[in-house]
Amino acid sequence: MYKKITIIIVIILGLALAAVFASRSKVNNFVPKSAKISVTASFYPLAYFAEQVGGDRVSIQSITPNGTEPHDFEPTPQDIITLRSSRVFFYNGNGVDAWADRVQPELIVGGVKVVAVSDAVSLMPTPVEQMVDDEREDKRIFNQFDPHIWLDPIRARQIAELIRDTLIVVDPSGADYYRGQFSDLSGRLTALDTDYTKSLASCATRDVIVSHYAFNYVAERYNLKLYAIAGMSPEAEPSAKHLAELTRLVKEKNITTIFFETLVSPRLAETLAKETGAVTNVLNPIEGLTSEDLSAGKNYETIMRDNLSALTTAMLCQ
Ligand SMILES: [Zn+2]
Repeated sequence: MYKKITIIIVIILGLALAAVFASRSKVNNFVPKSAKISVTASFYPLAYFAEQVGGDRVSIQSITPNGTEPHDFEPTPQDIITLRSSRVFFYNGNGVDAWADRVQPELIVGGVKVVAVSDAVSLMPTPVEQMVDDEREDKRIFNQFDPHIWLDPIRARQIAELIRDTLIVVDPSGADYYRGQFSDLSGRLTALDTDYTKSLASCATRDVIVSHYAFNYVAERYNLKLYAIAGMSPEAEPSAKHLAELTRLVKEKNITTIFFETLVSPRLAETLAKETGAVTNVLNPIEGLTSEDLSAGKNYETIMRDNLSALTTAMLCQ
């Protein structure tokens, strides 16, 4: 009796195993071998670096859409589905894409390779005096480090290096390709750094008024002194007292230009310029492209060069 039952169980197990193998080989036949590696990035500059390094072997999607400021962005349920179905997710960290910190545990459980690119660079502490009151109180917005690392060409190169190494782990057969792509981008970023150093070496002033404190890493590398209308994020409303101080500063230091950004209202910069006789111009923190930027064929590298030209004019460099 027991023998009979044992034989029946063995036959059932055998059939089940055969069914599993059959369905597996069927599934395998449907996996397209030429599929690109799907990569998501939290916002534009990281998507740009991943696109440059990943080239033809990857398909990139920025979760923060064009024309949207990343500081106050929240992903939609559809964005979460897109993130879950990607192989790799690059995010910045340190407050500029705070939502990414929240969603990353579930992505990791789901098998997505999650990489915080700020791990690749040395970070500067966020100066408390650069935050407006709301930001000081809300520790969720900013932790202790300044997130705007992509605006420094040297740190940008280190970010691209981490992206290269990540893509090599995920897609080892493309290793040589990713190394070549990185090498091209690295050369261009090095040239960018050289041009910033040369063009900003000899200027009448080093004082620069920006819209929000996105340029601390640029200021540190190329020796600029920054003052911002808003705080660490662009939407933070400055007090009347702060605006009065800036008005005095512009007059005192003969500052020629009040910079504004493409993704936030220029209203305060225009008011300040009117009161002081300065002009306004764009200094772009490259947190996202507008549709005008896109149709003009602009990208991270061209905007970095536009910024350099705006700085040399404002600072009266030779
Ligand atoms: Zn910012």
